[in-house]
Amino acid sequence: MDPKDSILIKERILKSVSKAWTLFLDLIFPIECLGCGREGVWLCESCRKTLRMNRRQYCLDCRKGSRSGRFCRHCRPGHHLDGLWIVGDYEQKLLAELIKKFKYDFIRDLGEPLGGFLLRFLRGRLFDSLKEGGGTEILRTFQETLIIPVPLHRRRFNWRGFNQAEVLARTVGGYFRLEMEVASLERTRYRRPQAKLGGRRRRENVRNCFAWRGEDLGGRNVILIDDVVTTGATLDEAARVLKENGAGEVWGLVAAKG
Ligand SMILES: [Zn+2]
Ligand SMILES: [Zn+2]
Repeated sequence: MDPKDSILIKERILKSVSKAWTLFLDLIFPIECLGCGREGVWLCESCRKTLRMNRRQYCLDCRKGSRSGRFCRHCRPGHHLDGLWIVGDYEQKLLAELIKKFKYDFIRDLGEPLGGFLLRFLRGRLFDSLKEGGGTEILRTFQETLIIPVPLHRRRFNWRGFNQAEVLARTVGGYFRLEMEVASLERTRYRRPQAKLGGRRRRENVRNCFAWRGEDLGGRNVILIDDVVTTGATLDEAARVLKENGAGEVWGLVAAKG
């Protein structure tokens, strides 16, 4: 073989080996923007701006539009939760990707951009309520609101290593300097994942799965934070337990409806 050819082959091998090595490293540490692939950040500034916030909220039960996010008059009696803010749209690929990576690939750092998404939404709500006056009770007395992340059962917590709702709640609560309670609402029952169950079964599946270990809430309003909502059964059951223990209004704040 011509020595020139042999050098060329060697170079090619080296190149492909180093390419494979880089790919391997990227698999382990692939910190790049989920939107555009830019290296070094999970979500770059320009992609962050493309995350769409829901302008309109709706009643989770009947889908009728609701300006405030409160359950409509017709559906309200069936709920312990007063209302729900669904910040984004799961149909938006980038948001769905962020949530999936955060939740199922255990990338805790994604809690920062996702938590930021929630807090910008809430800030907008507060501005609107100040500007227009009135608004909902919970926004009028916002500074006294208690932030509670929807807890995981210990088994699931140990498996994932963190509670994704708590990571989001810390970002939101930290920004607004709201008091946060993470230990008092406990998930006492380990139930199979809800994804496979229909609405009514979900309600049965979550019944009595929370216990409150703290003091009486003395009428304080609560914002329950979670990453996604599906039927709202889990949030509603948490709200039931909180109200049994003295909570005032209980609202949910989630990144999207799954
Ligand atoms: Zn980007
Ligand atoms: Zn309704």
